[in-house]
Amino acid sequence: MKSYSPEQIYLKSPTWVQNVLVSIYGYLEHQRRYTGEHEALKLQLKNNEYKRTEELELIKKRKLDQIISTAINKVPYYQKLNIQKLELSEFPLLDRQTVADNTEDFVNRSYKESELIALYTGGSTGNPLKVYVSKAIRQRSYAFWSAFYARMGFEIGDKKASFVGRKLQRPDDDTPPFWRYNLKDRQLLFSSYHMSEQNLPHYLEKLNKFKPRVIEGYPLSIYRLAEYILRNNSKLEFKPTGISTSSENFTNAQRCTMETAFQCKVFDQYGSAESVVFASECVHGKMHIEPEYGIVEILTSEGSIHSEGTGELVVTTLLNDAMPLIRYRIGDLGQLAYEDCDCGRNTAILKNLDGKVGAVIVNGDKRVPTAAIAIAFEYLEGIKNAQIIQNQPSSAIVKLVKKSDFNPETEDYMLWQLRGMLGEGLEISVEYVNEIPPEKNGKYRMVVQNHFIY
Ligand SMILES: [Zn+2]
Repeated sequence: MKSYSPEQIYLKSPTWVQNVLVSIYGYLEHQRRYTGEHEALKLQLKNNEYKRTEELELIKKRKLDQIISTAINKVPYYQKLNIQKLELSEFPLLDRQTVADNTEDFVNRSYKESELIALYTGGSTGNPLKVYVSKAIRQRSYAFWSAFYARMGFEIGDKKASFVGRKLQRPDDDTPPFWRYNLKDRQLLFSSYHMSEQNLPHYLEKLNKFKPRVIEGYPLSIYRLAEYILRNNSKLEFKPTGISTSSENFTNAQRCTMETAFQCKVFDQYGSAESVVFASECVHGKMHIEPEYGIVEILTSEGSIHSEGTGELVVTTLLNDAMPLIRYRIGDLGQLAYEDCDCGRNTAILKNLDGKVGAVIVNGDKRVPTAAIAIAFEYLEGIKNAQIIQNQPSSAIVKLVKKSDFNPETEDYMLWQLRGMLGEGLEISVEYVNEIPPEKNGKYRMVVQNHFIY
């Protein structure tokens, strides 16, 4: 579990010290992401961007053979399965709970413990999961991001404004600035936890001064500001080349509001910390699945697996050989199609993606997106599932399903995290339950709001 202290030191510091700390962290993060293997892979991706379908299939096949051979020879979980033929079709479906319960068994034994980096994910699915990658895998993963941003007209070093789940300021402190600056990447980070009607004019004023090339982050945070801009007929004094969104679903109406307010296109991205899939929208609005990152298949409601069609997404990583997940049920629904796109790319296309359910927590006058809350649930090792129920604007109930290794400190830690995001104004209580059922469509909802409109 993560320790509390660096965050506490940060939150107690004056703003200028916080900017220095954000910049130091930003510098370290820059080194972690954009050095080593990053540049070479980015060039390779650019080179392969417009390859023909047959050429891409060959590249995929080569990478898949490598991953399968690694899994069978180096990964205890797959070794035990006794798979004879080196083919994807030989592998059984893998669900999240199996990975959560046997995490160490999925680690490639060629990696030394010191080479592995643990990533925590699953806040928004309510089912926390630990995934291992290596330094090089992370650099390669960011090469896909950089290639995506390059298609949006952005290069590293251009200015960007980020609406993210970082606790930049105490939640009850309503004095601007609600942003901090990361010098190395010329990135202005905006708090997703302070977006009230009274604070939004400050956000807009700062954006107008900063004039970012790209706006990125949680769609419902960006939408909140976009809606404010249109409703107030506010003037935008810059024109970004794109808005990059990820982490949660949003409606076409919300997309339209963002595109109208900021006078640019929204480029949604789909991926996950499991490092199994990466897809991003092109300028023509089609979501291209990166063939060199992972393979997506469709599991139909009848239980058969296909390379096209509609159903549950089943993914196989081509990137993360430190913890290769094969035919992994990522928990999202969608449609997979092979069709031409005017952008000239020949990848598989993901349509009607029904990913993480986007919603907002109402916190007084503030609206905090689910994705920004999900972080509170990421490090909860003794918790199987979590869900927030909000029946009225002044309070929320957190439902938790315990695992056998549950420790009471976990509850304290989670509440401390939530208070750090939502402040003291919202009354939060905890309820332990035996299970949290999914929605009718089988999807899990992290925030359930009843009886009031937000
Ligand atoms: Zn396209």
